[in-house]
Amino acid sequence: MKSTLPLPARLASRAPQEPQDPLLRDLGAWPGQLVDSQLERRAAAHDASHYLLQPRALVRPHSADELGSLLRILERHDTGLTLRSGGTSLSGQAVTDQVLVDVRRHFRGVEVLDDGARVRVRPGSTVREANAVLAPYGRKLGPDPASESACTLGGVIADNSSGMHCGTEQNTYRTLESMVMVLPSGTVLDTADHDADRQLREAEPELHEGLLRLRRRVTGDAASTATIERLFAMKNTMGYGLNAFLDETEPVRIL
Ligand SMILES: Cc1cc2nc3c(=O)[nH]c(=O)nc-3n(C[C@H](O)[C@H](O)[C@H](O)COP(=O)(O)OP(=O)(O)OC[C@H]3O[C@@H](n4cnc5c(N)ncnc54)[C@H](O)[C@@H]3O)c2cc1C
Repeated sequence: MKSTLPLPARLASRAPQEPQDPLLRDLGAWPGQLVDSQLERRAAAHDASHYLLQPRALVRPHSADELGSLLRILERHDTGLTLRSGGTSLSGQAVTDQVLVDVRRHFRGVEVLDDGARVRVRPGSTVREANAVLAPYGRKLGPDPASESACTLGGVIADNSSGMHCGTEQNTYRTLESMVMVLPSGTVLDTADHDADRQLREAEPELHEGLLRLRRRVTGDAASTATIERLFAMKNTMGYGLNAFLDETEPVRIL
């Protein structure tokens, strides 16, 4: 039934408001999604840790290129961001009071390669989804975190997650072949490209040279090398994967 009642003046006169915050104005013009639902923003204020941080904005890019352009906007506003995927992290890695970027919603999909020996997984897919696709081939992913029904490949790779069975041989670090990276400058790089290291050197010369310099420092110091070898012989997911300085030679592989 159609209502014939006029709108209350209070509602009728409420025109859409331009956000006052210049950051929100720029995010509103960005092609990705700026989530304006209070409910969704509050739901994203915690992960599986005990921290509670209300994000200033919650956004959802649709692609790596959109994430790149988002990084450039945030740099202009001198604002930090945190990527969030499954939100099962236990130490507050997936919460922020700055800009929270949902990289799960629009990044799903699993493609089996080489009869299941390899698999291409978009970072928002869960471990369980990837394993379900691999099951008919008698294969599964190496890392097996107990949160597999909810955690995603993006979070698993960033956290170098492992699990009860994979040990240090089948963890994320050992089983990851390549990835598409979005660097803080917005540069998008596929490390599977045969000339990925050259692309990194051309796009990010300081980063490339810095990684080489650090590698020389680590490999040239017997005590550092011994410490890294000792710490990474056992299960170790704390901090950066410094073992890459010993295991790899090309900066793009170290990165
Ligand atoms: C019940 C339970 C059991 C668990 N069991 C285990 C276990 O057995 N082994 C284990 O190692 N961990 C375990 N965890 C911890 C957690 O589940 C894992 O670390 C998981 O891999 C996190 O994935 P996520 O998708 O939830 O990532 P999130 O929590 O959303 O994010 C984790 C980190 O990854 C970053 N990130 C997310 N997506 C991307 C992306 N696309 N690109 C770059 N960075 C990204 C985030 O910024 C954040 O720093 C458990 C957690 C719970 C709640």
